[in-house]
Amino acid sequence: MIKMPLKVPLIIKQLEALKQRLYQNHPKLPQIEYDLAKRWRGYRGEKAIQYYLKLIDDSDLYIFNNLRLKIKDTFFEIDTLILTSYYFLIFQVKNYRGEEISFENYFNQCTRTINGQRETIDDPLLQAKRHKILLINWLNKNKITMFIPMEEFVVISNSKCLITTSPNHPTARQKVIRPTGILSKVEWCNSKHMETKFSNKELRKLANSLLKNHVTELPNVLEYYQIPDEDIIKGISCPKCSFKPMVKIKGYWKCTNCSTLSKNAYLKGIKDYVYLYGQEITNKQLRDFFQISSRYVAKDILQENCVNSSGKNSQTIYILPLLE
Ligand SMILES: [Zn+2]
Repeated sequence: MIKMPLKVPLIIKQLEALKQRLYQNHPKLPQIEYDLAKRWRGYRGEKAIQYYLKLIDDSDLYIFNNLRLKIKDTFFEIDTLILTSYYFLIFQVKNYRGEEISFENYFNQCTRTINGQRETIDDPLLQAKRHKILLINWLNKNKITMFIPMEEFVVISNSKCLITTSPNHPTARQKVIRPTGILSKVEWCNSKHMETKFSNKELRKLANSLLKNHVTELPNVLEYYQIPDEDIIKGISCPKCSFKPMVKIKGYWKCTNCSTLSKNAYLKGIKDYVYLYGQEITNKQLRDFFQISSRYVAKDILQENCVNSSGKNSQTIYILPLLE
């Protein structure tokens, strides 16, 4: 079963929110747009393999997309993890730009060619192997110390990208595949690993534990791009023309540009706040971000939407939900 379905990563939603709240000529915009395009490309790559994952999906295996675990102070995220009672499987999905990706045996080098220009990139085979080792460490820390066979593959999802390897690189030949190769690799694993390692009940328990330990990433994008708060365009955004701020009139949010009325346009504002500033908010911070003056309107919104709060009166800190 698909235990963790593929979703648009939060970082994409964060960057989209940030982009929409910066002026068109903001100096950081080109970098944000570049990073955003890269993230979308990665997501599309993972989306492209979902069809094949559905074909192998079965009630007695568990498929996770973008499972992110913590070990000591580091996090690692596995693009696709499949648990079976006999072995575990990792797919590292790459949707490279460019016309050629080349794996070289020496120095663990990998190069890619874009518009005739060759450049070295991180070897995805090493990345997949690192994730396998970190997963073993995580399992050990969680008292699963027995040997579990694990296989890792790199899936190059861009069908226009030519894959080449140096002649003596058996690892790349065996472990780098196209999405269409997923089925045959799973069959190969099925025939290679036939010893039962987990009962159905044990595997279900482990799958639940992995899901429970998934940590959503919500980086501070303002800090990352060094964007001061005053550069952010505040206010509720009109769902029709994107004008900000909408004004609150008798239970409605009204756009002063196109006169659109909306009852729940503020929900997008709550999401945007969380994406840019995190889940904690005070009444004053909400008024500033929504560009409203009434502390009572702000209080109503906060009380209705927060998942938790602490402190009293003006010191109250509300916790907003992480809406995905
Ligand atoms: Zn409008």
